[in-house]
Amino acid sequence: MKVVDIINKSEKTVFSFELLPPLKGTTGDKLYNTIEQLLEFDPKYINITTHRDEFDFHQREDGLIEKRIVRKRPGTVAIAASIQHKFGIPVVPHILCGGFTRSETEHVLIDLFFLGIENVLALRGDGLKNETMFKPEPNGNRNATELVQQISCLKEGRYLDPDLKNNTPLDFCTGVAGYPEKHFEAPNLETDMEYLKIKVDAGAEYIVTQMFFDNQKYYSFVEKCRTAGITVPIIPGLKPIAVLNQLTVLPKIFHIDLPKDLANELKRCKNNNEAKEVGTEWAIFQANDLVRHNVPSLHVYTYGITDNVKDIMKAVL
Ligand code: FAD
Repeated sequence: MKVVDIINKSEKTVFSFELLPPLKGTTGDKLYNTIEQLLEFDPKYINITTHRDEFDFHQREDGLIEKRIVRKRPGTVAIAASIQHKFGIPVVPHILCGGFTRSETEHVLIDLFFLGIENVLALRGDGLKNETMFKPEPNGNRNATELVQQISCLKEGRYLDPDLKNNTPLDFCTGVAGYPEKHFEAPNLETDMEYLKIKVDAGAEYIVTQMFFDNQKYYSFVEKCRTAGITVPIIPGLKPIAVLNQLTVLPKIFHIDLPKDLANELKRCKNNNEAKEVGTEWAIFQANDLVRHNVPSLHVYTYGITDNVKDIMKAVL
């Protein structure tokens, strides 16, 4: 089932979880186990993040510098299909511009469609660690709008090669990312929102937000989107803080602020257990407030940790 249909058919807020794919060389057991622990909360769909291979640069004996892959994860197609078929819950694989040519993306989408996956989240991805700016592949999509356009073309049966035979339409429901505190490369929130509107007009059917720790930022973002003429559902992304160093790591990586009260409470914590307690309580407060505001779906970034997510879900349901 498509995410927009799930949301539109439900009168109440639905719940969804986002999981990280395992590293190569591991089987699906750990991921399956995480999902099994969350089944009692009736997740209506599950997102699976996608990660580019990670590289480093190594000096060879002849003095030349060689780029080599240092980290790989199993492919999005395999993970998404295995979860959807095992649990019967719609899976939303994340599709990235970064690291993929348009042709490779077309192959991934053909495979996903064949395997019964109806949903994708279309994202640009970040630059590699050693790059200052995002660099698309030659013949790759340069931003999420171009990726959404490619998916929208496939929905109409328009493949990259116009001479392709059997050009059956691939009917995906496409979500995109939105940033209540603006994307870090955007000069200001208004410009970011103009691009968001273009991305939605290209065919995105809903938006999932970056994590935020002050619900007012989400409500204000939704209001600004509506004023800008963006009418699709806007799903809040909730990230429960689980370890102490997230006090500084989350703002650094995700370019978001932690409210003063939360930061002060975390600063008083002596270890990860205390930080997790504070983070869980804060997330429960946020989640209850969002559900009271009847948000379409509450999307929890789990990062594979389930005990805090279970506490949050029990408090909200
Ligand atoms: P875009 O929408 O392309 O925007 C990127 C920047 O370009 C913005 O500053 C925007 O204002 C600007 N822009 C957009 N269109 C144009 C244009 N036409 N001309 C000029 N500028 C433009 N990353 C991963 O690697 N894997 C994941 O699985 C993953 N999942 C995510 C899930 C969610 C819900 C979110 C919020 C983020 C996720 N990310 C993931 C991170 C995401 O890839 C980064 O935030 C990335 O930097 C931007 O992606 P985007 O799709 O928002 O990009």
